[in-house]
Amino acid sequence: MNDFIFHNPDKVYFGKDQLRRLPEELAAFGTKVLMVYGGGSIKRSGLYDEMRGLLEGAGMQMFELAGVEPNPRHTTANRGAALCKENGIDVVLAVGGGSAIDCAKGVAAAAKTEDGDVWPLVAGGVWVTDALPVVAVLTNAATGSEMDAWGVITNWETNEKIGLGGSALIPRAAFENPELSYTLPPYQTACGAFDIFNHVLDNYYLAGEATFDVVMEMQEAVMRAVVKWAPVALAEPENYEARANLMWASSLALNTILDAGTVHACACHAMEHELSAYYDITHGHGLAILTPRWLEYILNEQTAPAIYRLGTAVFGVEEGLAPEEGARKAIECVSGFAFNTLGLESTLSHFGIDDAHFEDMAKHACADGEIPGLRSLSVDDVVNIFKMCR
Ligand code: NAP
Ligand code: FE
Repeated sequence: MNDFIFHNPDKVYFGKDQLRRLPEELAAFGTKVLMVYGGGSIKRSGLYDEMRGLLEGAGMQMFELAGVEPNPRHTTANRGAALCKENGIDVVLAVGGGSAIDCAKGVAAAAKTEDGDVWPLVAGGVWVTDALPVVAVLTNAATGSEMDAWGVITNWETNEKIGLGGSALIPRAAFENPELSYTLPPYQTACGAFDIFNHVLDNYYLAGEATFDVVMEMQEAVMRAVVKWAPVALAEPENYEARANLMWASSLALNTILDAGTVHACACHAMEHELSAYYDITHGHGLAILTPRWLEYILNEQTAPAIYRLGTAVFGVEEGLAPEEGARKAIECVSGFAFNTLGLESTLSHFGIDDAHFEDMAKHACADGEIPGLRSLSVDDVVNIFKMCR
């Protein structure tokens, strides 16, 4: 187990009746609020009106950055930063899924820079320690952005999608009402569930073999919960227990409690960001296509026991098999979860994606030479994995 510092200052208000506390939480930062949201789901659900009523009722001045794209663009974050500068915004309030929250983080960071441009921070890998406070109202269980230090920003002009990180980007508070995710379409429910599953899996094997049981067993518990409750949420969108389990799993997956003491890595995420940056596909779907192929590709004598453990601990594969056979069964279970249970299409060709950019995408993904993980991946390895996904 490696040394670690665990410090997550996000205050989570979880449950059905918590939103009424939002004004007092925001008031700690001031009265001028920039609300950041997406393409309209919060207007259709009535949440927008509720937010407006709450803020105005508490005497707050509300400004808006609307129309944040899934895979939010740096240009949108920059528009938000300009609004902050012009209006002396005190706090950035994200209302939506990971895209709204990530964009709000980009806004909050850029607002503190002289030129209000988020891209130099993203491209330069700057660790952000100064930003406007961010508060999140979550509507989609998926990314963990509601409790983590990261926001993923896309530059459509250069086909780059990169994480912007920093201690100042952890939301000061997150409001998580599972009922707000009842209106999620099945496709987004499926993609979100796979994103959560992969956030845990991408770090699962890196706790130093099985020597750090606390972390590995918590990781397994969270993955098991996702595998159990995602199909329930798909069949019964208004099942509170299912939505609540997915929402809290989303937050736990990346709030660093599940990777304390491990070597943080994210093989599938590094590869998926390339798919989204070039083809604008939905993040969780890209991960679903990549993950079983990645496991298949890295399977060998050394990795088989770890992959087999995923099968027994998360999917109930029987004990006592030869490690490679067990590992193959585990991989079948992951494919079954992605493509049968969640019903996601299994190939890149479904999106019309061919080999045209695989080489460039792989070079981007391996920015530092190799992608670390249970087995580290070179540019050639990444190209091969993309090819397996065609
Ligand atoms: P999202 O892009 O925020 O939302 C996906 C779609 O679902 C949007 O069309 C949105 O519509 C809709 N939606 C959200 N909540 C809804 C609701 N309750 N009812 C109906 N529709 C709803 O999805 P996401 O998966 O949460 O976020 C994806 C982004 O986060 C990607 O860019 C991904 O790379 C990034 N990400 C970040 C982290 C991190 O650590 N920060 C980790 C993984 C991924 P509207 O636009 O109309 O609201
Ligand atoms: Fe993710």
